[in-house]
Amino acid sequence: MMGKNIERRQFLRIAAGAAIATGASAALVGCGTGGGKGGSSGSDSEQVLGWTEINFEHDVDVCVVGAGGSGLPAAYNAATAGCNTLCIEKQSTYGGDAANSANTWWVPYASVTADLRPGEESPLQDQIDSVDKSYEPGTELNALNKKWYEYVDKWMSILTYDMNAQWQESVPCVYKGCYWPEGGIGQGQKFWANVQQHVESAGVKFVYNMKADTFIVNAEGNVVGLRCYDTANERWVDIKSKAFILATGGFAANQDMVAEYYPELVTVGCVTTEAMGEGIQLGQSVGGSLLGMSGEVNCNPHLECIHVSQSIGRSISILPNGHRFHNESRVHMGPTNCIAAGFWEWWVIFDDDILNGPSALNVEKTEQYRVTGNTVEELAAAMNMPASVVQIGFDEYNAVCDAGVDEAFGRTFKLEKLEPPYYAMKLSPRRYKTAGGLRVDVSGQVLNESGDPVAGIFACGCTGGTTDIPPAGASGLIAGEGAAAYVKSLS
Ligand SMILES: Cc1cc2nc3c(=O)[nH]c(=O)nc-3n(C[C@H](O)[C@H](O)[C@H](O)COP(=O)(O)OP(=O)(O)OC[C@H]3O[C@@H](n4cnc5c(N)ncnc54)[C@H](O)[C@@H]3O)c2cc1C
Repeated sequence: MMGKNIERRQFLRIAAGAAIATGASAALVGCGTGGGKGGSSGSDSEQVLGWTEINFEHDVDVCVVGAGGSGLPAAYNAATAGCNTLCIEKQSTYGGDAANSANTWWVPYASVTADLRPGEESPLQDQIDSVDKSYEPGTELNALNKKWYEYVDKWMSILTYDMNAQWQESVPCVYKGCYWPEGGIGQGQKFWANVQQHVESAGVKFVYNMKADTFIVNAEGNVVGLRCYDTANERWVDIKSKAFILATGGFAANQDMVAEYYPELVTVGCVTTEAMGEGIQLGQSVGGSLLGMSGEVNCNPHLECIHVSQSIGRSISILPNGHRFHNESRVHMGPTNCIAAGFWEWWVIFDDDILNGPSALNVEKTEQYRVTGNTVEELAAAMNMPASVVQIGFDEYNAVCDAGVDEAFGRTFKLEKLEPPYYAMKLSPRRYKTAGGLRVDVSGQVLNESGDPVAGIFACGCTGGTTDIPPAGASGLIAGEGAAAYVKSLS
Protein backbone atom coordinates (compact mmCIF):
# COMPACT_ATOMS: atom_id res chain seq x y z
CA MET A 1 0.00 0.00 0.00
CA MET A 2 1.61 3.26 -1.06
CA GLY A 3 1.41 6.66 0.54
CA LYS A 4 -0.86 5.75 3.42
CA ASN A 5 -0.48 8.18 6.30
CA ILE A 6 -0.94 7.04 9.83
CA GLU A 7 -4.07 8.81 11.02
CA ARG A 8 -2.62 10.44 14.11
CA ARG A 9 0.75 12.08 14.38
CA GLN A 10 3.07 10.03 16.49
CA PHE A 11 5.02 11.24 19.47
CA LEU A 12 8.50 9.85 18.97
CA ARG A 13 11.61 9.42 20.97
CA ILE A 14 14.92 8.09 19.89
CA ALA A 15 16.23 5.08 21.72
CA ALA A 16 19.86 4.12 21.47
CA GLY A 17 19.16 0.59 22.62
CA ALA A 18 16.01 -1.45 22.68
CA ALA A 19 14.08 1.06 24.77
CA ILE A 20 10.57 1.84 23.65
CA ALA A 21 9.09 5.27 24.25
CA THR A 22 6.76 5.11 27.20
CA GLY A 23 3.20 6.00 26.40
CA ALA A 24 3.96 6.54 22.73
CA SER A 25 2.17 4.80 19.91
CA ALA A 26 5.38 4.23 18.04
CA ALA A 27 9.07 4.76 18.54
CA LEU A 28 12.19 4.76 16.44
CA VAL A 29 15.12 2.57 17.33
CA GLY A 30 18.12 1.70 15.26
CA CYS A 31 21.60 2.44 14.04
CA GLY A 32 21.49 5.93 12.65
CA THR A 33 20.58 9.41 13.67
CA GLY A 34 17.03 8.51 14.46
CA GLY A 35 15.51 9.76 11.26
CA GLY A 36 13.78 12.61 13.01
CA LYS A 37 13.27 15.95 11.41
CA GLY A 38 15.32 17.43 14.23
CA GLY A 39 18.45 15.50 13.21
CA SER A 40 19.35 14.25 16.66
CA SER A 41 22.78 12.87 17.46
CA GLY A 42 21.03 9.81 18.82
CA SER A 43 23.08 9.76 21.98
CA ASP A 44 20.36 10.72 24.44
CA SER A 45 17.78 8.00 24.93
CA GLU A 46 15.35 10.47 26.51
CA GLN A 47 15.62 13.14 23.87
CA VAL A 48 12.26 14.19 22.50
CA LEU A 49 12.45 14.90 18.83
CA GLY A 50 9.02 16.41 18.58
CA TRP A 51 6.11 15.50 16.40
CA THR A 52 7.40 13.40 13.58
CA GLU A 53 4.89 11.98 11.21
CA ILE A 54 5.14 8.36 10.15
CA ASN A 55 4.19 7.99 6.54
CA PHE A 56 4.35 4.47 5.15
CA GLU A 57 5.14 4.63 1.46
CA HIS A 58 5.51 0.88 1.07
CA ASP A 59 3.50 -1.89 2.67
CA VAL A 60 4.96 -5.34 1.98
CA ASP A 61 5.24 -8.83 3.42
CA VAL A 62 9.03 -8.96 3.49
CA CYS A 63 11.54 -6.12 3.33
CA VAL A 64 15.13 -7.17 2.66
CA VAL A 65 17.71 -4.60 3.72
CA GLY A 66 20.79 -4.83 1.49
CA ALA A 67 21.09 -6.17 -2.06
CA GLY A 68 24.42 -7.99 -1.74
CA GLY A 69 25.59 -11.59 -1.61
CA SER A 70 23.01 -12.59 1.00
CA GLY A 71 20.19 -10.07 0.41
CA LEU A 72 19.65 -11.14 -3.20
CA PRO A 73 19.07 -14.84 -2.42
CA ALA A 74 16.99 -13.85 0.62
CA ALA A 75 14.71 -11.73 -1.53
CA TYR A 76 14.57 -14.45 -4.17
CA ASN A 77 13.42 -17.10 -1.73
CA ALA A 78 10.89 -14.82 -0.03
CA ALA A 79 9.39 -13.86 -3.39
CA THR A 80 9.32 -17.38 -4.80
CA ALA A 81 7.50 -18.45 -1.62
CA GLY A 82 4.75 -16.00 -2.59
CA CYS A 83 5.63 -12.97 -0.47
CA ASN A 84 5.28 -9.41 -1.68
CA THR A 85 8.97 -8.56 -1.33
CA LEU A 86 10.86 -5.27 -1.37
CA CYS A 87 14.66 -5.09 -1.39
CA ILE A 88 16.20 -1.78 -0.39
CA GLU A 89 19.84 -0.89 -0.94
CA LYS A 90 21.73 2.16 0.27
CA GLN A 91 24.04 2.23 -2.74
CA SER A 92 22.94 3.09 -6.26
CA THR A 93 23.37 -0.51 -7.36
CA TYR A 94 23.24 -4.14 -6.17
CA GLY A 95 25.98 -6.64 -5.41
CA GLY A 96 27.60 -5.22 -2.27
CA ASP A 97 31.05 -6.48 -1.35
CA ALA A 98 30.31 -9.70 -3.21
CA ALA A 99 30.33 -7.93 -6.57
CA ASN A 100 33.56 -6.09 -5.80
CA SER A 101 35.41 -9.12 -4.51
CA ALA A 102 37.59 -11.71 -6.25
CA ASN A 103 34.34 -13.66 -6.29
CA THR A 104 36.03 -16.89 -5.34
CA TRP A 105 33.46 -19.58 -4.53
CA TRP A 106 35.07 -22.30 -2.47
CA VAL A 107 32.48 -25.05 -2.90
CA PRO A 108 34.23 -28.40 -3.46
CA TYR A 109 31.16 -30.20 -2.13
CA ALA A 110 28.52 -28.59 -4.36
CA SER A 111 26.57 -31.22 -6.28
CA VAL A 112 26.69 -29.13 -9.50
CA THR A 113 30.33 -30.27 -9.67
CA ALA A 114 29.17 -33.64 -10.99
CA ASP A 115 27.87 -31.81 -14.08
CA LEU A 116 30.37 -29.01 -14.37
CA ARG A 117 33.59 -30.74 -13.38
CA PRO A 118 33.12 -34.50 -13.39
CA GLY A 119 35.84 -36.23 -11.41
CA GLU A 120 36.29 -33.32 -8.98
CA GLU A 121 33.32 -34.12 -6.74
CA SER A 122 33.70 -34.30 -3.00
CA PRO A 123 30.72 -35.48 -0.95
CA LEU A 124 28.46 -32.88 0.65
CA GLN A 125 27.73 -35.25 3.52
CA ASP A 126 31.44 -35.40 4.43
CA GLN A 127 31.46 -31.62 4.61
CA ILE A 128 28.35 -31.59 6.79
CA ASP A 129 29.81 -34.28 9.06
CA SER A 130 33.05 -32.30 9.39
CA VAL A 131 31.11 -29.59 11.26
CA ASP A 132 31.12 -31.87 14.31
CA LYS A 133 34.89 -31.37 14.56
CA SER A 134 34.57 -27.59 14.85
CA TYR A 135 31.26 -27.18 16.67
CA GLU A 136 30.04 -29.41 19.46
CA PRO A 137 27.16 -31.59 18.25
CA GLY A 138 23.80 -30.46 19.56
CA THR A 139 24.78 -26.80 19.76
CA GLU A 140 23.14 -23.93 17.90
CA LEU A 141 26.28 -23.24 15.86
CA ASN A 142 26.65 -26.87 14.90
CA ALA A 143 23.11 -26.97 13.50
CA LEU A 144 23.50 -23.61 11.78
CA ASN A 145 26.79 -24.50 10.09
CA LYS A 146 25.39 -27.80 8.86
CA LYS A 147 22.39 -26.03 7.39
CA TRP A 148 24.63 -23.45 5.73
CA TYR A 149 26.52 -26.23 3.88
CA GLU A 150 23.25 -27.80 2.79
CA TYR A 151 21.97 -24.46 1.49
CA VAL A 152 25.25 -23.54 -0.22
CA ASP A 153 24.61 -26.62 -2.30
CA LYS A 154 21.05 -25.44 -3.02
CA TRP A 155 22.26 -21.93 -3.89
CA MET A 156 24.86 -23.31 -6.32
CA SER A 157 22.13 -25.34 -8.00
CA ILE A 158 19.74 -22.37 -8.22
CA LEU A 159 22.53 -20.20 -9.65
CA THR A 160 23.64 -22.80 -12.14
CA TYR A 161 20.37 -24.33 -13.30
CA ASP A 162 17.68 -21.69 -12.61
CA MET A 163 19.71 -18.52 -13.11
CA ASN A 164 22.06 -19.86 -15.77
CA ALA A 165 25.14 -18.48 -14.00
CA GLN A 166 28.24 -18.87 -16.13
CA TRP A 167 31.26 -20.34 -14.38
CA GLN A 168 34.84 -20.39 -15.55
CA GLU A 169 36.15 -23.83 -16.43
CA SER A 170 38.26 -25.50 -13.78
CA VAL A 171 41.77 -24.05 -13.52
CA PRO A 172 44.69 -25.46 -11.54
CA CYS A 173 44.51 -23.79 -8.14
CA VAL A 174 46.11 -24.43 -4.79
CA TYR A 175 42.64 -24.39 -3.23
CA LYS A 176 40.71 -27.40 -4.52
CA GLY A 177 37.10 -26.77 -5.46
CA CYS A 178 37.21 -23.06 -6.25
CA TYR A 179 34.75 -21.67 -8.75
CA TRP A 180 35.05 -18.27 -10.37
CA PRO A 181 32.55 -16.59 -12.67
CA GLU A 182 33.19 -16.72 -16.39
CA GLY A 183 36.21 -14.51 -17.08
CA GLY A 184 37.89 -15.52 -13.84
CA ILE A 185 38.93 -13.83 -10.65
CA GLY A 186 37.13 -10.59 -9.96
CA GLN A 187 34.51 -10.84 -12.71
CA GLY A 188 31.72 -10.35 -10.20
CA GLN A 189 29.82 -7.44 -11.72
CA LYS A 190 28.38 -9.39 -14.65
CA PHE A 191 27.73 -12.40 -12.46
CA TRP A 192 25.72 -10.45 -9.89
CA ALA A 193 23.90 -8.47 -12.60
CA ASN A 194 22.54 -11.77 -13.86
CA VAL A 195 21.54 -12.80 -10.33
CA GLN A 196 19.79 -9.48 -9.70
CA GLN A 197 17.81 -9.80 -12.94
CA HIS A 198 16.54 -13.22 -11.90
CA VAL A 199 15.62 -11.96 -8.45
CA GLU A 200 13.73 -9.06 -10.01
CA SER A 201 12.00 -11.45 -12.42
CA ALA A 202 10.89 -13.48 -9.40
CA GLY A 203 8.83 -10.43 -8.42
CA VAL A 204 11.12 -8.55 -6.04
CA LYS A 205 10.88 -4.77 -6.16
CA PHE A 206 14.23 -2.98 -5.77
CA VAL A 207 14.71 0.52 -4.40
CA TYR A 208 18.24 1.94 -4.45
CA ASN A 209 19.80 4.87 -2.60
CA MET A 210 17.60 3.84 0.32
CA LYS A 211 19.53 3.60 3.57
CA ALA A 212 17.86 1.78 6.46
CA ASP A 213 18.14 3.92 9.54
CA THR A 214 15.76 3.04 12.39
CA PHE A 215 13.05 0.55 13.16
CA ILE A 216 9.57 1.78 13.93
CA VAL A 217 8.09 -0.18 16.82
CA ASN A 218 4.59 -0.12 18.27
CA ALA A 219 3.66 0.28 21.91
CA GLU A 220 3.98 -3.49 22.44
CA GLY A 221 7.56 -3.31 21.26
CA ASN A 222 6.93 -5.11 17.99
CA VAL A 223 8.63 -3.88 14.86
CA VAL A 224 6.06 -2.53 12.42
CA GLY A 225 8.22 -0.56 10.06
CA LEU A 226 11.57 0.82 9.05
CA ARG A 227 12.56 4.41 8.57
CA CYS A 228 15.03 4.90 5.72
CA TYR A 229 16.84 7.81 4.17
CA ASP A 230 16.42 8.27 0.45
CA THR A 231 19.85 9.67 -0.34
CA ALA A 232 18.99 10.50 -3.95
CA ASN A 233 16.03 12.69 -3.00
CA GLU A 234 17.21 13.68 0.47
CA ARG A 235 14.08 12.68 2.34
CA TRP A 236 12.94 10.13 4.89
CA VAL A 237 10.87 7.17 3.73
CA ASP A 238 8.92 4.81 6.02
CA ILE A 239 8.40 1.18 5.04
CA LYS A 240 5.80 -1.07 6.60
CA SER A 241 6.56 -4.79 6.47
CA LYS A 242 5.48 -7.96 8.25
CA ALA A 243 9.06 -9.24 8.31
CA PHE A 244 12.48 -7.69 7.82
CA ILE A 245 15.64 -9.44 6.67
CA LEU A 246 18.81 -7.63 7.68
CA ALA A 247 21.47 -8.25 5.02
CA THR A 248 23.72 -5.21 5.27
CA GLY A 249 27.06 -7.04 5.44
CA GLY A 250 29.60 -6.92 8.26
CA PHE A 251 31.28 -4.04 10.07
CA ALA A 252 34.82 -3.90 8.66
CA ALA A 253 34.35 -0.23 7.72
CA ASN A 254 32.96 0.81 11.09
CA GLN A 255 35.94 2.10 13.02
CA ASP A 256 34.14 2.11 16.38
CA MET A 257 32.97 -1.48 16.05
CA VAL A 258 36.40 -2.59 14.82
CA ALA A 259 37.95 -0.87 17.84
CA GLU A 260 35.60 -2.83 20.08
CA TYR A 261 35.81 -6.26 18.45
CA TYR A 262 39.13 -6.23 16.55
CA PRO A 263 41.35 -3.72 18.39
CA GLU A 264 44.42 -5.28 16.77
CA LEU A 265 43.08 -4.24 13.34
CA VAL A 266 42.15 -0.70 14.21
CA THR A 267 45.22 0.76 12.51
CA VAL A 268 44.87 -1.44 9.43
CA GLY A 269 43.01 0.34 6.62
CA CYS A 270 39.83 -1.06 5.15
CA VAL A 271 39.03 -1.95 1.52
CA THR A 272 35.29 -1.66 1.87
CA THR A 273 33.40 1.52 2.64
CA GLU A 274 29.86 0.24 3.07
CA ALA A 275 30.24 -2.50 5.70
CA MET A 276 29.22 -0.21 8.55
CA GLY A 277 27.47 -2.78 10.73
CA GLU A 278 24.13 -1.03 10.33
CA GLY A 279 22.08 -4.23 10.16
CA ILE A 280 23.76 -5.57 13.28
CA GLN A 281 22.96 -2.36 15.14
CA LEU A 282 19.39 -2.36 13.86
CA GLY A 283 18.94 -5.93 15.10
CA GLN A 284 20.41 -5.03 18.48
CA SER A 285 18.11 -2.04 18.77
CA VAL A 286 15.09 -4.35 18.91
CA GLY A 287 16.61 -6.87 21.29
CA GLY A 288 18.77 -9.02 19.01
CA SER A 289 21.84 -10.53 20.63
CA LEU A 290 25.27 -11.08 19.13
CA LEU A 291 27.27 -14.22 18.52
CA GLY A 292 30.81 -14.92 17.35
CA MET A 293 32.00 -11.31 17.40
CA SER A 294 35.82 -11.06 17.34
CA GLY A 295 35.97 -14.42 15.55
CA GLU A 296 39.12 -15.10 13.58
CA VAL A 297 39.38 -13.31 10.22
CA ASN A 298 42.26 -12.78 7.84
CA CYS A 299 43.24 -9.60 6.01
CA ASN A 300 43.47 -8.77 2.32
CA PRO A 301 45.75 -6.53 0.33
CA HIS A 302 44.31 -3.36 -1.16
CA LEU A 303 44.51 -4.92 -4.65
CA GLU A 304 42.57 -8.13 -4.24
CA CYS A 305 42.81 -9.60 -7.74
CA ILE A 306 46.57 -9.90 -7.98
CA HIS A 307 46.90 -11.60 -4.65
CA VAL A 308 44.14 -14.11 -5.44
CA SER A 309 45.89 -14.74 -8.77
CA GLN A 310 48.83 -16.01 -6.75
CA SER A 311 46.71 -19.07 -5.93
CA ILE A 312 46.60 -20.02 -9.62
CA GLY A 313 49.88 -18.69 -11.03
CA ARG A 314 53.58 -18.46 -10.26
CA SER A 315 54.84 -15.54 -8.23
CA ILE A 316 57.23 -14.43 -5.52
CA SER A 317 56.22 -12.24 -2.58
CA ILE A 318 58.95 -10.16 -0.99
CA LEU A 319 59.09 -7.69 1.87
CA PRO A 320 60.84 -4.31 1.53
CA ASN A 321 63.96 -6.08 2.87
CA GLY A 322 63.89 -8.41 -0.14
CA HIS A 323 63.07 -11.62 1.73
CA ARG A 324 60.27 -14.03 0.98
CA PHE A 325 57.84 -14.20 3.86
CA HIS A 326 54.97 -16.58 3.07
CA ASN A 327 53.75 -19.44 0.93
CA GLU A 328 52.80 -17.30 -2.06
CA SER A 329 50.00 -19.57 -3.22
CA ARG A 330 48.28 -19.44 0.20
CA VAL A 331 47.36 -15.88 -0.48
CA HIS A 332 45.91 -14.71 2.82
CA MET A 333 49.19 -15.41 4.56
CA GLY A 334 50.58 -12.39 2.65
CA PRO A 335 48.92 -9.60 4.65
CA THR A 336 49.01 -11.60 7.88
CA ASN A 337 52.73 -12.40 7.71
CA CYS A 338 53.57 -8.92 6.45
CA ILE A 339 52.02 -7.34 9.54
CA ALA A 340 53.61 -9.97 11.78
CA ALA A 341 57.02 -9.16 10.26
CA GLY A 342 56.54 -5.50 11.17
CA PHE A 343 55.99 -4.14 7.65
CA TRP A 344 53.11 -2.29 6.02
CA GLU A 345 53.77 -3.22 2.43
CA TRP A 346 55.15 -5.99 0.28
CA TRP A 347 55.73 -6.70 -3.40
CA VAL A 348 54.27 -9.43 -5.57
CA ILE A 349 56.55 -10.29 -8.48
CA PHE A 350 55.08 -12.35 -11.30
CA ASP A 351 55.34 -13.07 -15.00
CA ASP A 352 53.14 -13.88 -17.98
CA ASP A 353 51.86 -17.02 -16.25
CA ILE A 354 49.63 -14.69 -14.22
CA LEU A 355 49.40 -11.72 -16.59
CA ASN A 356 48.13 -13.85 -19.48
CA GLY A 357 46.66 -16.59 -17.31
CA PRO A 358 43.06 -17.58 -16.57
CA SER A 359 42.34 -14.27 -14.83
CA ALA A 360 44.01 -12.07 -17.41
CA LEU A 361 40.90 -9.90 -17.68
CA ASN A 362 41.23 -8.69 -14.15
CA VAL A 363 45.00 -8.56 -13.92
CA GLU A 364 44.99 -6.47 -17.08
CA LYS A 365 43.03 -3.78 -15.23
CA THR A 366 45.92 -3.32 -12.81
CA GLU A 367 48.25 -1.81 -15.41
CA GLN A 368 48.50 1.51 -13.59
CA TYR A 369 49.74 -0.26 -10.46
CA ARG A 370 52.39 -2.54 -11.91
CA VAL A 371 55.95 -2.00 -13.06
CA THR A 372 57.93 -4.10 -15.50
CA GLY A 373 61.50 -5.12 -16.23
CA ASN A 374 63.26 -7.60 -18.48
CA THR A 375 65.95 -8.22 -15.89
CA VAL A 376 66.04 -8.14 -12.10
CA GLU A 377 68.04 -4.89 -12.33
CA GLU A 378 65.45 -3.26 -14.59
CA LEU A 379 62.59 -4.46 -12.43
CA ALA A 380 64.28 -3.24 -9.25
CA ALA A 381 64.84 0.19 -10.81
CA ALA A 382 61.14 0.35 -11.72
CA MET A 383 60.28 -0.68 -8.15
CA ASN A 384 62.59 2.04 -6.87
CA MET A 385 64.48 -0.55 -4.85
CA PRO A 386 68.16 -1.58 -4.86
CA ALA A 387 68.71 -4.49 -7.28
CA SER A 388 70.66 -6.31 -4.56
CA VAL A 389 67.56 -6.31 -2.32
CA VAL A 390 65.18 -7.59 -5.02
CA GLN A 391 67.79 -10.20 -5.95
CA ILE A 392 67.50 -11.66 -2.42
CA GLY A 393 63.91 -12.70 -3.10
CA PHE A 394 64.73 -14.13 -6.53
CA ASP A 395 67.66 -16.08 -5.07
CA GLU A 396 65.60 -17.47 -2.20
CA TYR A 397 62.79 -18.49 -4.52
CA ASN A 398 65.02 -19.97 -7.23
CA ALA A 399 66.82 -22.05 -4.60
CA VAL A 400 63.44 -23.45 -3.51
CA CYS A 401 62.58 -24.27 -7.14
CA ASP A 402 65.94 -26.01 -7.60
CA ALA A 403 65.47 -28.01 -4.40
CA GLY A 404 61.81 -28.74 -5.16
CA VAL A 405 61.06 -28.16 -1.49
CA ASP A 406 60.10 -24.96 0.32
CA GLU A 407 61.51 -25.63 3.78
CA ALA A 408 60.66 -22.16 5.07
CA PHE A 409 57.02 -21.82 4.02
CA GLY A 410 55.91 -25.20 2.73
CA ARG A 411 54.85 -24.09 -0.73
CA THR A 412 54.32 -26.95 -3.16
CA PHE A 413 52.12 -25.28 -5.80
CA LYS A 414 53.81 -24.04 -8.99
CA LEU A 415 57.38 -24.12 -7.77
CA GLU A 416 58.55 -22.80 -11.14
CA LYS A 417 61.11 -20.07 -11.78
CA LEU A 418 59.77 -16.81 -13.19
CA GLU A 419 60.59 -15.91 -16.76
CA PRO A 420 61.10 -12.37 -18.07
CA PRO A 421 59.47 -9.99 -18.59
CA TYR A 422 58.88 -9.63 -14.86
CA TYR A 423 56.10 -7.58 -13.31
CA ALA A 424 55.78 -6.25 -9.78
CA MET A 425 52.98 -4.72 -7.77
CA LYS A 426 53.21 -3.18 -4.32
CA LEU A 427 50.51 -4.29 -1.90
CA SER A 428 49.58 -3.30 1.61
CA PRO A 429 47.38 -5.06 4.18
CA ARG A 430 43.75 -4.09 4.61
CA ARG A 431 40.92 -5.42 6.70
CA TYR A 432 38.01 -6.50 4.50
CA LYS A 433 35.64 -8.68 6.47
CA THR A 434 34.50 -9.41 9.97
CA ALA A 435 33.18 -12.47 11.75
CA GLY A 436 30.14 -12.71 13.99
CA GLY A 437 26.92 -10.78 13.89
CA LEU A 438 23.36 -11.17 15.03
CA ARG A 439 22.61 -14.50 16.64
CA VAL A 440 20.08 -16.36 14.50
CA ASP A 441 18.25 -19.67 14.68
CA VAL A 442 18.19 -22.25 11.89
CA SER A 443 15.43 -20.31 10.12
CA GLY A 444 17.52 -17.13 10.12
CA GLN A 445 15.37 -15.44 12.77
CA VAL A 446 17.23 -13.14 15.13
CA LEU A 447 17.39 -14.32 18.75
CA ASN A 448 17.50 -12.24 21.90
CA GLU A 449 19.77 -12.84 24.90
CA SER A 450 17.39 -15.50 26.23
CA GLY A 451 17.43 -17.35 22.94
CA ASP A 452 13.87 -16.34 22.03
CA PRO A 453 13.13 -15.09 18.51
CA VAL A 454 12.68 -11.38 17.90
CA ALA A 455 9.35 -11.36 16.10
CA GLY A 456 9.65 -10.77 12.37
CA ILE A 457 13.36 -9.93 12.32
CA PHE A 458 15.74 -12.12 10.30
CA ALA A 459 19.42 -11.74 9.47
CA CYS A 460 21.80 -13.28 6.97
CA GLY A 461 25.25 -12.93 5.43
CA CYS A 462 27.85 -11.06 7.46
CA THR A 463 25.01 -9.47 9.44
CA GLY A 464 24.04 -12.96 10.58
CA GLY A 465 27.45 -14.50 11.18
CA THR A 466 28.83 -15.73 7.84
CA THR A 467 32.16 -14.56 6.41
CA ASP A 468 32.26 -15.66 2.77
CA ILE A 469 30.14 -15.49 -0.37
CA PRO A 470 28.80 -19.08 -0.52
CA PRO A 471 27.53 -19.22 3.09
CA ALA A 472 26.23 -15.66 2.73
CA GLY A 473 24.04 -16.92 -0.12
CA ALA A 474 23.02 -19.98 1.86
CA SER A 475 22.03 -17.95 4.89
CA GLY A 476 20.12 -15.60 2.57
CA LEU A 477 18.07 -18.46 1.16
CA ILE A 478 17.40 -19.67 4.70
CA ALA A 479 16.31 -16.23 5.93
CA GLY A 480 14.09 -15.74 2.87
CA GLU A 481 12.43 -19.08 3.50
CA GLY A 482 12.16 -18.37 7.23
CA ALA A 483 10.66 -14.92 6.73
CA ALA A 484 8.11 -16.30 4.25
CA ALA A 485 7.08 -19.00 6.74
CA TYR A 486 6.80 -16.36 9.47
CA VAL A 487 4.57 -14.17 7.29
CA LYS A 488 2.34 -17.14 6.46
CA SER A 489 2.07 -17.96 10.17
CA LEU A 490 0.52 -14.53 10.77
CA SER A 491 -2.50 -15.18 8.57
C1 LIG B 1 37.66 -7.01 -1.23
C2 LIG B 1 36.86 -8.20 -0.79
C3 LIG B 1 37.13 -9.42 -1.36
C4 LIG B 1 36.42 -10.55 -0.98
N1 LIG B 1 36.67 -11.72 -1.62
C5 LIG B 1 35.89 -12.79 -1.37
C6 LIG B 1 36.02 -13.96 -2.14
O1 LIG B 1 36.77 -14.00 -3.11
N2 LIG B 1 35.26 -15.04 -1.80
C7 LIG B 1 34.39 -15.01 -0.76
O2 LIG B 1 33.75 -16.04 -0.50
N3 LIG B 1 34.21 -13.89 -0.03
C8 LIG B 1 34.93 -12.78 -0.33
N4 LIG B 1 34.74 -11.62 0.39
C9 LIG B 1 33.71 -11.60 1.43
C10 LIG B 1 32.33 -11.47 0.77
O3 LIG B 1 32.33 -10.37 -0.10
C11 LIG B 1 31.25 -11.33 1.83
O4 LIG B 1 31.31 -12.44 2.71
C12 LIG B 1 29.84 -11.29 1.20
O5 LIG B 1 29.76 -10.30 0.22
C13 LIG B 1 28.85 -11.05 2.30
O6 LIG B 1 27.57 -10.84 1.77
P1 LIG B 1 26.59 -9.84 2.55
O7 LIG B 1 25.29 -9.90 1.85
O8 LIG B 1 26.65 -10.13 3.99
O9 LIG B 1 27.28 -8.41 2.36
P2 LIG B 1 27.44 -7.56 1.03
O10 LIG B 1 27.64 -8.44 -0.15
O11 LIG B 1 28.47 -6.53 1.29
O12 LIG B 1 26.03 -6.84 0.88
C14 LIG B 1 25.55 -5.93 1.85
C15 LIG B 1 24.73 -4.87 1.13
O13 LIG B 1 23.98 -4.13 2.09
C16 LIG B 1 24.03 -2.76 1.75
N5 LIG B 1 23.78 -1.96 2.97
C17 LIG B 1 24.61 -1.77 4.02
N6 LIG B 1 24.02 -1.00 4.95
C18 LIG B 1 22.79 -0.69 4.47
C19 LIG B 1 21.70 0.09 4.97
N7 LIG B 1 21.77 0.73 6.15
N8 LIG B 1 20.58 0.20 4.22
C20 LIG B 1 20.49 -0.42 3.01
N9 LIG B 1 21.49 -1.16 2.48
C21 LIG B 1 22.62 -1.31 3.21
C22 LIG B 1 25.44 -2.59 1.21
O14 LIG B 1 25.54 -1.41 0.43
C23 LIG B 1 25.61 -3.87 0.40
O15 LIG B 1 25.15 -3.73 -0.93
C24 LIG B 1 35.43 -10.46 0.01
C25 LIG B 1 35.15 -9.22 0.60
C26 LIG B 1 35.84 -8.10 0.18
C27 LIG B 1 35.50 -6.77 0.78
